[in-house]
Amino acid sequence: MNSNFVDRDLAVLWHPCTQMKDHETLPLILIQRGEGVWIEDVDGKRYIDAISSWWVNLFGHANPRINAAIKAQLDKLEHVILAGFSHEPVITLSERLVQITPEGLSRCFYADNGSSAVEVALKMSFHYWRNLGQYKKTRFISIDNSYHGETLGALSVGNVPLYREIYGPLLLDTIVAPSPDCFDREPGVSWEAHSRQQFAAMETLLVRHAEEVCAVIIEPLVQCAGYMRMYHPAYLSLLRAACDRYGIHLIADEIAVGFGRTGTMFACEQADISPDFMCLSKGLTGGYLPLAVTLMTDEIYRAFYDDYENLTAFLHSHSYTGNPLGCSAALATLDIFAGQPVLENNVTLAKCMHDLTEDLQEHPYVAEVRQHGMILAIEMIKDKKSREPYPWQERRGLKVYRHALGKGVLLRPLGNVIYLMPPYIITPEQIETVVNVAKEGIDLATRD
Ligand code: PMP
Repeated sequence: MNSNFVDRDLAVLWHPCTQMKDHETLPLILIQRGEGVWIEDVDGKRYIDAISSWWVNLFGHANPRINAAIKAQLDKLEHVILAGFSHEPVITLSERLVQITPEGLSRCFYADNGSSAVEVALKMSFHYWRNLGQYKKTRFISIDNSYHGETLGALSVGNVPLYREIYGPLLLDTIVAPSPDCFDREPGVSWEAHSRQQFAAMETLLVRHAEEVCAVIIEPLVQCAGYMRMYHPAYLSLLRAACDRYGIHLIADEIAVGFGRTGTMFACEQADISPDFMCLSKGLTGGYLPLAVTLMTDEIYRAFYDDYENLTAFLHSHSYTGNPLGCSAALATLDIFAGQPVLENNVTLAKCMHDLTEDLQEHPYVAEVRQHGMILAIEMIKDKKSREPYPWQERRGLKVYRHALGKGVLLRPLGNVIYLMPPYIITPEQIETVVNVAKEGIDLATRD
């Protein structure tokens, strides 16, 4: 049965982020159902989804509460145009998002995937300054090794060469600041000291380019697609203050880190800052449906509010903007956060992840084990002393991936970085299974 499906799939599908030729040797796995942390293939083999299916799932597959909410909504309204029309789920969701996000964010503009939410923030920031008569502001500052999505605008403010380089000629001329990422800090330097140090270069760029820059865009605390590199919240505080000083917007892309991933509901809370724009998606619907939202301040909203003839409106739309099914999944997700001590429980799970991986710090081919809350990353390295990385062509992470699949765990390393980003309903015993499999995989992948 399995091979029949595989043949049919490979005859007509083109899978995301995949060199399709890999599937000549790499098995494609057909999933027929999911429950909790588990996904099950058509042969009945089960896998622990340790990466939350690309970082989206929060409370498990087939979560009864979210399932029920979507089913109830389905019998009322599946979708309706959001221009000129509205519906109760999108209104309630917007009220609740305004309530739980950092102070000052008071408006919700919806899209249907993370990249589009970033496009909204970029276009809206640029347009805001135009509406104010500031025509020189046409550029953005982004952080080295950042990732904000695959559409051309989002790719323009991303800086992971693997995804960006080939499309370089098509992209906006973005200004890139060094990353506050702490991996390459000098021995003995703390995360905080290093991230603060890295801010000096950002400050210089802000001073030099203030007149032409609309906004700085940043992934708070963790550069997820950028190999799960991490930094200290102090950088965000410095950045917020400097953006205010130089009249530049701050866009926080919490698409991956929002909804509790770093320990707080939103990563910005750890720096006690409010951005001008916040982009959310992934966990927004508990990992169920494609929905994204860009929140912004009242000041930004006001700059577009005028007589139609003045042509200041934000004439941007997506067909599935504010889809009611997605909103009902999001409301059920927020109900779970409101009704259960999720973040408190995650402290225990995060500690469990920490404790079980601590010994890997001593592994001869592990450069670092780093963690922010429910994201834990293990970076393999060829030479620990000289910090020489494994050549990417060796695809060591892929070896870990293959090993883990054989053992019933879905890990999907980024280059030489193995990471855990599990659903919040994972148990300590399941974390132990995942960690043991990851350790075996690392031993195997670094053996020669
Ligand atoms: N921003 C960040 C920080 C992300 O991690 C991602 C997705 N990995 C995106 C934006 C893009 O979201 P999407 O894949 O839904 O377009």
